[in-house]
Amino acid sequence: MTCDLEGGNLGSMNKVVEVAIGLPVSKTFHYLIPEEFRGSLRIGMRILVPFKGRKVTGFAIDLLDAPPAGIEEKLREVEDLLDEMPLIDPAMLLFCRWVAEYYVYPLGEVIKTALPPGLHLKSEWVVSVTDRGRMALRRGDCGPMQTRVLNEIEGRPSVPLKDLLRAFNGEVTRDRLFSWKKQGLLHVEAELDGKEVGPKLKKVVQLSGGSIPVPPSRKKAEILKWLEGRGKVSYSELTRQFKSPSQAVHSLEAAGYLLISTEEVIRNTSVQSDLKPYPKPEPTRNQQAMLGEILKGVHSKRYSPFLIYGVTGSGKTEIYLRAIEEVLARGKEALVLVPEISLTPQLLSRFKDRFGENLALLHSGLGRGERYDQWRKIWKGEVPIALGARSAIFAPFRNLGIIIVDEEHDPSYKQEDKLKYHARDLAVVRAKQVGATLLLGSATPSLESYRNAETGKFNLLRLPERIEGKSLPQVEVIDLKKGEGLLSEKVRSALQRNIEQKQQSLLFLNRRGFANFILCPDCGLVFKCPNCSVTLTYHFRDRSLQCHYCDYRVLAPGDCPRCEGHRLRGMGIGTERLEQEINSLFPGIKVERMDRDTTRRKQAPQKILKALESGQIDILVGTQMIVKGHDFPNVTFVGVVSADASLHFPDFRSSERTFQLLTQVAGRAGRGETVGQVVIQTFNPDHYSILRAKDHDFLGFYQEEIQFRKALDYPPFSRLVNFRLIGNSEKKTQSLADEMGQEGHTLLKKGYGKGIQILGPSTAPFAKLRGKFRWQMLAKSRNSQLLHQFARTLAASIEGKAKRAGVSLDIDVDPIFIL
Ligand SMILES: [Zn+2]
Ligand SMILES: [Zn+2]
Repeated sequence: MTCDLEGGNLGSMNKVVEVAIGLPVSKTFHYLIPEEFRGSLRIGMRILVPFKGRKVTGFAIDLLDAPPAGIEEKLREVEDLLDEMPLIDPAMLLFCRWVAEYYVYPLGEVIKTALPPGLHLKSEWVVSVTDRGRMALRRGDCGPMQTRVLNEIEGRPSVPLKDLLRAFNGEVTRDRLFSWKKQGLLHVEAELDGKEVGPKLKKVVQLSGGSIPVPPSRKKAEILKWLEGRGKVSYSELTRQFKSPSQAVHSLEAAGYLLISTEEVIRNTSVQSDLKPYPKPEPTRNQQAMLGEILKGVHSKRYSPFLIYGVTGSGKTEIYLRAIEEVLARGKEALVLVPEISLTPQLLSRFKDRFGENLALLHSGLGRGERYDQWRKIWKGEVPIALGARSAIFAPFRNLGIIIVDEEHDPSYKQEDKLKYHARDLAVVRAKQVGATLLLGSATPSLESYRNAETGKFNLLRLPERIEGKSLPQVEVIDLKKGEGLLSEKVRSALQRNIEQKQQSLLFLNRRGFANFILCPDCGLVFKCPNCSVTLTYHFRDRSLQCHYCDYRVLAPGDCPRCEGHRLRGMGIGTERLEQEINSLFPGIKVERMDRDTTRRKQAPQKILKALESGQIDILVGTQMIVKGHDFPNVTFVGVVSADASLHFPDFRSSERTFQLLTQVAGRAGRGETVGQVVIQTFNPDHYSILRAKDHDFLGFYQEEIQFRKALDYPPFSRLVNFRLIGNSEKKTQSLADEMGQEGHTLLKKGYGKGIQILGPSTAPFAKLRGKFRWQMLAKSRNSQLLHQFARTLAASIEGKAKRAGVSLDIDVDPIFIL
């Protein structure tokens, strides 16, 4: 293997290292490098350093000759090196620094996000009884509480402090334990928690290659004969062939006939696709012209960004595949981002057909070990292509030629917790930093990307037609205000017709469960989640009321708990109820449902899509899971049961999101020989996002929406930062929000006021979520530098107060392009 990860100052004799710690601290720290490590410590390695009485993992981010001026306190020493080679190279470090800066997030935490989970060592406090403590216990010199605690841990090598505190459930405190340490009764020391995921190893046996003289015994001779011509054989295979071969094998090894070694096993990734192979198509003239443009970018070896706007079914995937072939032929690497791998088995199987073993997969659905293996394959330079969900943007390639973001508009590219990065935006940044070609593809580009194409930041490539001249489906809009009920006559007759003609249908409804909420018509009671400010959804299968945000669930009551009325009623419908309605409307046909409830098991989405492909499903009912880029020629009808859920979401992007969803779901119809038919049911038949989706008119939608954004000064015309305060105490969270508001306005008076506007503070759209209270304040500006400066200043002045109040400050920088 080749690991030429040079960390800048290779083997220098620098005396000081700058360290980013993998903890939520925004500063970096300096440590002295002990003599023994000076030759081997390099930038990008993980090291163990003392930090607030513990030992923590840090990342070496710079090496210096002397401490920077102004650091008065005596520097402490690095404890240990955890790596022999840097895990991240200088380019990745640069990328991580950018991310930390932009998203106002600690660098150590960003680097941690960039690495596969499980690589982290953490020290913890462990407690054991001293000899003196043991003696005191025997002599009965201890108080009652001391006796109980010492008895609990005596005779055990050591007990993690937190386990001990938990075992005594608040009866004994940390401070008390430390006071007993001072009395000499306890040892309390830091220890490493070494739950590191490592490579999976197997024992292999092979002939040593020397000539074999007289066979030593029959069994040994048989083993040698069997191994002949087999190369390396795993030891477990040998044990299947020969009964308990261990003694014979070891004596053969001792005699020099055999070599025994260990080898790494790459764990199989659990996302397998076994869909039909897809033949390699000849590119159309349009595709060819487009490839020509892209290849100019690839050959230039400079940052070359493209936005491919191609209607659904226009053959974007083939362009990706061919562009990658070119990049590989030039000895470069390719990174491909997709919204969700488990939902796009067709794309995955096309990549596998084309590139086979050259492909690594990276996404959160993989087990820790699998992810670690895939990551290391890339890190070692063994695979030139990675396909993955948003976190794959951190794939450790060192020679990237192209980054592709498929369905670039998809909201799942945004990480919603912790480091709130947007993988599509980071693709732009990374491509620019390493001078790679960037391909963003979508049938419904995000407003930001299309605006960038308009202003010349991206090269726009258009695929205006479906391949093989197939037409886009015909779309009709049905006004639900006219009281057609759950399924309009149009939808029912289309379903009926498809059943008769043995064609398949999709029904889209973006709400799972049976009823959206339960209402008592006698007293008006609505069942709400005790932890979140939302109503509970009724699930028919297990008669439960569930919160879709925190997973709270209770058994649905038979009568109203407030007025004892008998008329509890489910309001609004979800996919579970829709499936039931379809079953009773069309008995005997095969209906399947695809939503989060039916796809909890690992292979479930693939199984459903495979059943759809092989014609075992007549009608597939589902949430936005069915919207992704599937291509099933026999699906000729798509019904949108209700287009309104996403329209009313409290977000300035709700129209854009609705347009995208409807266009994408409609795009599933008529991929084969028959022209597809789509019916959209809605209470808002005149809304422009619905009318434009009906006409497959992205440009028309863009023109209207961009006016609205401009008038209200929303992105892409301005940039937003959301400061969210989340706390257990309603009062403390609110009063901190007030303070944050005052602080913000003070900053405006101090000069930020010219470029920045503040909205709020106010309660967040979900004022309570998972038991925590939420307030937010938005800052808006056309000047991103100024906005970032403001964000950092405000965060610095609030952080301390927030920590003391037990409230967390969550900074969300709206996805935007800053380039
Ligand atoms: Zn009631
Ligand atoms: Zn809840």
